[in-house]
Amino acid sequence: MTANILNGKELALSIRQNLKQQVDALTNKPCLAVVLAGDNEASKIYVKNKLKAAEEIGIETSLFLFDNDVTQAELENLVARLNEDKKINGIMLQLPLPDKIDEKAILNMISPEKDVDGFHPYNIGLLQNNSDNAVIAATPKGIIRLLENANVDFEGKNALVIGRSQIVGKPVAMLLLNKNCTVTVAHSKTKNLENLVAQADILVSACGCPKLIKGSWIKQDAIIVDVGINRIDGKLCGDVDFDSAKEKAKLITPVPGGVGPMTIAMLLENTFLAYKKQNKL
Ligand code: NAD
Repeated sequence: MTANILNGKELALSIRQNLKQQVDALTNKPCLAVVLAGDNEASKIYVKNKLKAAEEIGIETSLFLFDNDVTQAELENLVARLNEDKKINGIMLQLPLPDKIDEKAILNMISPEKDVDGFHPYNIGLLQNNSDNAVIAATPKGIIRLLENANVDFEGKNALVIGRSQIVGKPVAMLLLNKNCTVTVAHSKTKNLENLVAQADILVSACGCPKLIKGSWIKQDAIIVDVGINRIDGKLCGDVDFDSAKEKAKLITPVPGGVGPMTIAMLLENTFLAYKKQNKL
């Protein structure tokens, strides 16, 4: 049997259309500040896509561009100014920042209510507390939304998360735990990954290793979420060998068209929610 495809593109589109209707009804529009520093080509593309998606649904944007030799003080001054600016509802700092910048220090300066990326320790703490007020990072939030939309039953399921980054692995593991999964987190030092994969009812892979996970490793009827964005000979692929995995999985996300579009939709949703909270709507 071939797996059903978890179509992130389709769901993201309907979320964006729904957000557009809500934004259209507002007199004053939400505004997202986007900060891009350095000359990382992938970052430039991500920022362009995020700005376009925001503008399409009527969210205003303010782009702040810096070159590679931006200083810590310049970025800190900007964040301080954006925190105070009543017109700005969300602040998104495109990562990675140039090497010499203390990324954490700047992320921690963003006011938690404007932290639409959910990277501030305050929001991470709220997520750990399973609080409804947590701003949840866009990629993990998009993954859970995609699974909820497919009526996935989480309770008591073995979930394996591959990767322990602050932006994907750790928060998605916490969200799955909050959903009553039994969660294992694997990382680059994990031994016997193949054995862990074989036990997983739900597998979320965010390790950035092209086609690492083979169809023969996965459990029959597993649910597979592939976060990885990799290239082989210029062609996009995930961490999972899609062609072999789709023969065993019950549900599987494609790359592209799975998690990626959901990430952008959730960033827009977080911006809209920040606007609503700040305006007590
Ligand atoms: P990262 O480099 O910060 O973290 C990678 C993690 O994978 C680390 O915790 C590392 O220990 C683990 N890892 C590496 N090799 C491993 C192996 N062989 N076995 C087990 N674990 C291993 O990366 P990230 O920022 O979390 O991103 C991960 C992947 O997801 C990348 O391909 C990235 O491009 C992609 N990504 C996609 C989206 C999206 O919207 N689709 C968003 C963010 C990241």
